[in-house]
Amino acid sequence: MAWRGCCRLGAQLWKSPGRKELWGRRGIVSCIDPAVGLTEEQKEFQKVAFDFAAKEMAPHMAEWDEKEIFPVETIRKAAQLGFGGIYVRPDVGGSGLSRLDTSVIFEALSTGCVSTTAYISIHNMCAWMIDTFGTEEQRHKFCPSLCSMEKLSSYCLTEPGSGSDAASLLTSAKRKGDAYVLNGSKAFISGGGDTDLYVVMCRTGGPGPKGISCLVLEKGTPGLSFGKKEKKVGWNAQPTRAVIFEDCTVPVANRLGEEGQGFNIAMKGLNGGRINIASCSLGAAYASVLLARDHLNVRKQFGELLAHSQYLQFRLAEMATRLLAARLMVRNAARALQEERDDAMALCAMAKLFATDECFAICNEALQMHGGYGYLKDYAVQQFVRDIRVHQILEGTNEVMRMIVARSLLQP
Ligand SMILES: Cc1cc2nc3c(=O)[nH]c(=O)nc-3n(C[C@H](O)[C@H](O)[C@H](O)COP(=O)(O)OP(=O)(O)OC[C@H]3O[C@@H](n4cnc5c(N)ncnc54)[C@H](O)[C@@H]3O)c2cc1C
Repeated sequence: MAWRGCCRLGAQLWKSPGRKELWGRRGIVSCIDPAVGLTEEQKEFQKVAFDFAAKEMAPHMAEWDEKEIFPVETIRKAAQLGFGGIYVRPDVGGSGLSRLDTSVIFEALSTGCVSTTAYISIHNMCAWMIDTFGTEEQRHKFCPSLCSMEKLSSYCLTEPGSGSDAASLLTSAKRKGDAYVLNGSKAFISGGGDTDLYVVMCRTGGPGPKGISCLVLEKGTPGLSFGKKEKKVGWNAQPTRAVIFEDCTVPVANRLGEEGQGFNIAMKGLNGGRINIASCSLGAAYASVLLARDHLNVRKQFGELLAHSQYLQFRLAEMATRLLAARLMVRNAARALQEERDDAMALCAMAKLFATDECFAICNEALQMHGGYGYLKDYAVQQFVRDIRVHQILEGTNEVMRMIVARSLLQP
């Protein structure tokens, strides 16, 4: 089986959990070390995340991809380390860490499996939305089981007819006494069908963003159903399905915020979501640079190691430089979001645009350096390429990121 070879590679690459032993060689490794600039505390939980990635995820990532396994038990183990509600407040079970801390953790985790980490990141976004915009009652009702990941969540914004133009969504919620009756459908929902709570953006008012509200819907609600599991290029360790609402009754008590605030809540969630997804791309690019380095150090052509080719050395140096630039942008945006600065939304968009484009290019270049072997599923690099391709598309496409940045520049 192809994935066995990949596991072997994973075992070899990840055999030592300590970064120093694993990546402690002199040269490019130290200058792209993700621990540089972090506090001692951040280095501690970064190490926990790297260890988890190495032991619990990397040995399985090829199999999860090949067999399309959603590794719920592993995800729950990650939650035991505090990764289910990283930036959720502690009184409801969260870890109460910062956006920068969160980025550091997702970068480390995704070196073990991008797809699984990306799902955990979406779940974290939903938990944060409930923690931040929910009432005390809603926070205490939903957040503890989300932070332990006993219950899993999905973020439902996209519809078949509204993707980039999310504010044109049509799913309707009509008020009937102390409940809403929900009708419509959502497309491409991560975790859809396998998750327990659905954070749904729906129309309670007129057209445009101000007519949108946010409801939390529980699995098992009559009228809630799911489409077929989508077949995807990557992100195969998590399911993606359409979510369909046919006269679903949702209590008004499950609405986050006021009527009409749903779009704002959705966008605030996505600011952090974009840093998180960009961080997953960083992890993939970091792992890919290391894989490329190791390949260049063992593969001989024209009578010498590929590592002796100045062309390939320069390419590797460029990959490392672009990775570091992307990481600095992501961490800068994370700090801005943490400080609730006015420029945070644009900085998150810039970081997502830059990091997901650059990291995809880095992973693809690493694949190229492997020659034909890079195209084989025995080698992990192809999975990093496939898994992060979608980061340029979701949580707002990179064209939408350009719109957000341009708007912030052009508006007075
Ligand atoms: C694997 C996967 C998981 C996903 N998970 C979720 C999820 O959990 N929850 C969720 O709500 N959504 C999810 N999505 C949906 C994702 O957010 C959308 O696919 C994305 O926002 C783009 O929407 P669209 O696919 O309808 O593309 P479209 O909006 O139709 O865009 C098509 C292309 O045109 C470009 N474009 C559109 N308008 C303009 C313009 N004015 N100027 C320039 N270019 C433009 C776009 O950038 C894109 O390149 C997921 C998608 C995928 C593939």
